[in-house]
Amino acid sequence: MKENPFENALAQLAEAGKVANIDPAVLEILSKPEREIYFHLPLKRDSGKFEIYEAYRVEYNNWLGPYKGGLRYHPDVDIDEVKALALWMTIKCADSDLPFGGGKGGIKVDPKALSAGELERLTRLFGHELAPNIGPTTDVPAPDVNTGPKQMDQIEEEYEKYVQSQIDKHKFSKDELKRAPGVITGKSIGHGGSEGRGVATALGGFYVLEALVEKLGLKKPLTVAIQGFGNAGMHEAEFLYANGYQVVAVSDSKGGIYDKTHKGLNIDLVKKVKEEKGSLQVGYNKGHISNEELLGLNVDILVPAALEGVITKMNADNIRAKIILELANGPTTLEADKILGKKGCIIAPDVLTNAGGVIVSYFEFVQNLENEHWTEEEVYKKLKTKMIKEFNTIWDISQEMKINLRMAAYVSALRRLQAAAPIFAKAA
Ligand code: NAD
Repeated sequence: MKENPFENALAQLAEAGKVANIDPAVLEILSKPEREIYFHLPLKRDSGKFEIYEAYRVEYNNWLGPYKGGLRYHPDVDIDEVKALALWMTIKCADSDLPFGGGKGGIKVDPKALSAGELERLTRLFGHELAPNIGPTTDVPAPDVNTGPKQMDQIEEEYEKYVQSQIDKHKFSKDELKRAPGVITGKSIGHGGSEGRGVATALGGFYVLEALVEKLGLKKPLTVAIQGFGNAGMHEAEFLYANGYQVVAVSDSKGGIYDKTHKGLNIDLVKKVKEEKGSLQVGYNKGHISNEELLGLNVDILVPAALEGVITKMNADNIRAKIILELANGPTTLEADKILGKKGCIIAPDVLTNAGGVIVSYFEFVQNLENEHWTEEEVYKKLKTKMIKEFNTIWDISQEMKINLRMAAYVSALRRLQAAAPIFAKAA
């Protein structure tokens, strides 16, 4: 049975709280979301039948700024998963020193089982229901698993309709409409999206890996296995392939492909196969492996880039990689962390490694508010500076306190959160 991700997130929080000597009241408050919103979305299927879909938005913490976090469409979405992801967003935004809090949302649905029209209707229903609860100064969603610019554009349009209805009722001023694009990030460029948002998570992770490889004094070529070939995993494979790493295995939900010679897959070709056939294994006729086998490959770097809870106490002993680059949120449980730590495996934690997405989301938010459009080069340069700065902060804490990088990331985030906690505010 899959371990409860929220319990794992709380265990990480409690352990780091002790290490960082955080006030118990702050930890108590951070162990519960501020708000959990449940929706039941009545979708009219193409057949004319109605089906009800469960959806959620968790507004976890806003001490540092508006709640921020993606919207996931997946059959396994439930309230505990969304709460875990929202807590990790709270830690990640604090680590990245962004003026954002943490949130997350999603719909329990297999989007691949819906027609394009059904998916759009479901997204617009979600946007309509979300609209009174979100806003550029309150709660700013973004993409996550199985959502992208198309869904973000549709939700933004639903939000604009809501704002217009409030202007008509004289509840909002016309200025609110100008600010409306700031309600969501990860939009298409035409809708006010930022250059570089699509590759931001993978690129941020690449900058972290390069910095870590340098600190550890490792020499290229280094071998890599990547689980998940979507927005995060596929772009990571491309960056690594283009920069002298040997990506020997990649996988999607149906399974993986593996180059036994360890010379490395041709990622351009793999991408073409995936695009044409919709699956890695169907289009690639040799070297198939399961997702579980991929995790245990004898590689230098393992990149979980799919879902949470894949490295647990049950399989941590089988992991042979020296570095785990966590592009997915929450791929490693706390118990697995300890087993891997004893084996000398270094984990670049999710809250640092995959922060590129939310950092460029912040850049998009700023561009929307300032009515600007930055070039791709500007975005990449600012992203690199920010990722390296946060990596160095966390690396230094880990060296000073003799703790692993995940604990160091939590220490850094919890210190920033505690300093902003309203219970310590002078005016209170
Ligand atoms: P995506 O939907 O684009 O891709 C997900 C990939 O994982 C797909 O290739 C899918 O086939 C694969 N997958 C699904 N179930 C799997 C399973 N059981 N085993 C192996 N592979 C499986 O999603 P994404 O945006 O790339 O997100 C992946 C991870 O990265 C998630 O944990 C997400 O929260 C995290 N993340 C994404 C972003 C972002 O900007 N997109 C930012 C931060 C973190």
